[in-house]
Amino acid sequence: TNLLRIKNLHAVVENKEILKGIHLEVNEGEIHAIMGPNGSGKSTLASVLAGNPKYEVTRGSVIFKEKELLDMEPADRAKEGIFLSFQYPIEIPGVSMVNFMRAALNEQRKYRGEEQISASNFLKLMRDKRELLGIDSQLVSRSVNEGFSGGEKKRNEIFQMAMLDPTLAILDETDSGLDIDALRIVAAGVNALHSPHKAAIVITHYQRLLDYIQPDVVHVLYDGKIIKTGGPDLALELEEKGYDWLVNP
Ligand code: ADP
Ligand code: MG
Ligand code: MG
Repeated sequence: TNLLRIKNLHAVVENKEILKGIHLEVNEGEIHAIMGPNGSGKSTLASVLAGNPKYEVTRGSVIFKEKELLDMEPADRAKEGIFLSFQYPIEIPGVSMVNFMRAALNEQRKYRGEEQISASNFLKLMRDKRELLGIDSQLVSRSVNEGFSGGEKKRNEIFQMAMLDPTLAILDETDSGLDIDALRIVAAGVNALHSPHKAAIVITHYQRLLDYIQPDVVHVLYDGKIIKTGGPDLALELEEKGYDWLVNP
């Protein structure tokens, strides 16, 4: 079943067109990788999907579960079941992950017309997800992201993802500072949460991340367009040959 359909997506930032007609279809059960040289528009695509108001969509559509995503408020996109890795990068002093996640989960349930989660079920869910991901109970009792190291932020983010249980996870691995531990955390999270009814889009510069996550489909984004799509072998080919052969054939 089709989950996401991006058609002819164009987006502009500060009068400059960055996305120049993106087409992408993601089905249930698939993991897609989006790769490409720096500056090609990968993070812009993630920002547009998240609904970042800095980016103006000038053409195209994004259908998620048969609804137009571009018409939805950013917060509602999450409640519909999309998770974007930089959704909660903020530090919230004095608010623990426990309280933050409970509020987020209950908002999602309210939106879906479901009952609020009981305290005991919430604690059980937290424990289950922590165990699944191997996350220490200390991390979730600390204030959200306050004084977190890069690795802890990553762990936290993957934990949020596990708790919200999205149908489609979109992870933009932007940082050149991602160490091997952080890559492993992300990969373990994506793999642990994946199932036949879910999908993930992993945006990465790092072929190395794909040593830990096996994508079904690999895309190369260049100058605002997807210029090549292939299977897992394409990622290996890119590692070996770089991007030049695609860009200047
Ligand atoms: P990637 O993630 O592939 O490295 P980006 O989406 O970050 O690429 O950037 C694509 C292009 O858009 C770059 O030329 C970048 O300078 C420009 N760009 C992205 N975001 C902004 C912004 N907020 N303001 C101005 N230019 C931007
Ligand atoms: Mg970049
Ligand atoms: Mg980027």
